[in-house]
Amino acid sequence: AALYKIDGWGAPYFSVNSSGNVSARPYGADTLPHQEIDLLKIVKKVSDPKWVGGLGLQLPVIVRLPDVLKNRLESLQSAFDFAIQSQVYEAHYQGVYPVKCNQDRFVVEDIVRFGSPFRFGLEAGSKPELLLAMSCLCKGNPEALLICNGFKDGEYISLALIARKLALNTVIVLEQEEEIDLVIELSKKMSVRPVVGVRAKLRTKHSGHFGSTSGEKGKFGLTTTQILRVVKKLEQAGMLDCFQLLHFHIGSQIPSTSLLADGVSEAAQIYCELVRLGARMQVIDIGGGLGIDYDGSKSGNSDLSVAYGLDEYALAVVQAVKFVCDRKNVKHPVICSESGRALVSHHSILIFEALSSSSTSAASMTSYEMQYYLGALTEDARADYRNLTASAIRGEHEACLLYADQLKQSCVDQFKEGNIGMEQLAAVDALCELIYKTIGASDPVRTYHVNLSLFTSIPDFWGIGQLFPIVPIHRLDQRPGARGILSDLTCDSDGKIDKFIGGESSLPLHEIEGGGAGGNGGKYYLGMFLGGAYEEALGGIHNLFGGPTVVRVSQSDGPHSFLVTQAVPGPSCGDVLRVMQHEPELMFETLKHRVEEYCHHDEDSDDGDSDHGMGSIASLANSLASCFHNMPYLVA
Ligand code: PLP
Repeated sequence: AALYKIDGWGAPYFSVNSSGNVSARPYGADTLPHQEIDLLKIVKKVSDPKWVGGLGLQLPVIVRLPDVLKNRLESLQSAFDFAIQSQVYEAHYQGVYPVKCNQDRFVVEDIVRFGSPFRFGLEAGSKPELLLAMSCLCKGNPEALLICNGFKDGEYISLALIARKLALNTVIVLEQEEEIDLVIELSKKMSVRPVVGVRAKLRTKHSGHFGSTSGEKGKFGLTTTQILRVVKKLEQAGMLDCFQLLHFHIGSQIPSTSLLADGVSEAAQIYCELVRLGARMQVIDIGGGLGIDYDGSKSGNSDLSVAYGLDEYALAVVQAVKFVCDRKNVKHPVICSESGRALVSHHSILIFEALSSSSTSAASMTSYEMQYYLGALTEDARADYRNLTASAIRGEHEACLLYADQLKQSCVDQFKEGNIGMEQLAAVDALCELIYKTIGASDPVRTYHVNLSLFTSIPDFWGIGQLFPIVPIHRLDQRPGARGILSDLTCDSDGKIDKFIGGESSLPLHEIEGGGAGGNGGKYYLGMFLGGAYEEALGGIHNLFGGPTVVRVSQSDGPHSFLVTQAVPGPSCGDVLRVMQHEPELMFETLKHRVEEYCHHDEDSDDGDSDHGMGSIASLANSLASCFHNMPYLVA
């Protein structure tokens, strides 16, 4: 656990159990030992061919833990409730979940259900997101906010006005000044009294990667001049009372509470000014940005770490709003936040298998074979070879490396000229590896091939260099004997993970042993943690690898500590082909005709090739059909 800093980034949801496996603690700090869920047991259960109608599910798999999601929601709410009580703040907190972080139907439905007792709502940033938020909130608390952010056209605004007509507590937050004209026009046309908010472009700037859109030159929001013009337009339309919410968002992963308090204070000043100008302000919406500690360092000195927890975050917000409002004698507003990352990151774990690791070629050649082939080298190469072995015997490391390089280079040159064969070249490589190993100069880092697509499942690593904790989910009672980088299935040189939390360029990993390592049939499973926000939504289908299988796992007090309540296989080859406009059914028919045509031909030709009988026509067609039907990942 210490090697992978699990106690840092994992607490209170992940730990290592007495079997050396990672276990999830569904109720965080309140989890009792018998309630812990062993992740390896989940993998074994869902991939067991005897389970789910004899099918067994394919990895990679996303394990969703709704209990963790509930715990995150309740923890966020109670952090604010506590801060509000301790500061004698005279209004409440009611958050919204920005669905863009993970639009999965069951994630959103869970949040609405778990959040209903405390008016938790949703935030949408596009028309389809608004549609899903509207339908989910029909089952939510009627006071829950439905915040409409993002760039808007007439259709988006009409939809938001319809939501208001349907008694959903909808707020149209202006992202651009022009949107106000549409809001005024359409709300009159549709006879709906809207609730309007404004996203303010704050001067406070967060300097990390995720803050690049904040500050005066940021991409989003209205400047003070523009906000003043909106006030005027609403006033002229007799709708200033509709202006009720002030929103800002200074970026994700806000590194410190001092920066947070700075931003909140600036926004609270604008809020008070709007009250002074006659708007009927009710809510201050502080956006997202509540960070999580990916590396467990609590240092706050990189995009990977924040120097605060939920309690400190809530306290900083409540204190800052109260201080400004009290000085201006303004009634305390309802505080809303749009925390996404902090809410959904922990509840889902991506589990994948390392199928093989690159091994040294020396092992594949006996010393007799090596001597035999080296004996056939040219005279020059043999001189280098003699110098190399002599310096190795004398223990002259520098000279060894020099002669090894020289020998390799001259043999490659000779191979290119056609003077030596592949066996000689392989013997030279084997000899050099043996020498590197003897003098302790061999590269200890292996490449582990993982049954995964980075572009589908960890797109932020590829896109913005974001790091996530990646850890073997078992064998943690054994010291890892190797170090490795992870290479994915895509035909893309970017499809590898060679940076890990803690600034490491390789990960301590165990040997993948054949025949039952750790009692798991030689299988070696890794988990990528804290990836529940953004990764699924951003993932693409590079190389036509679709999303992983998804299972929902709840804590249960039955014979096992968990219950798999839902299992959805990832998209099949046919499904991903369809995304790119191919028609799998037609493709299958075309290929099947071809099989019939060609196998028939072979049969007629009577060439003695008994592999092509009638039975094989059906079996080839069956193989094709199951390829369309299965997921694109390797079947381990
Ligand atoms: N609200 C808005 C307007 C955003 O742009 C974002 C994300 O960038 C969020 C909320 C969610 O932020 P986070 O995931 O950091 O909580």
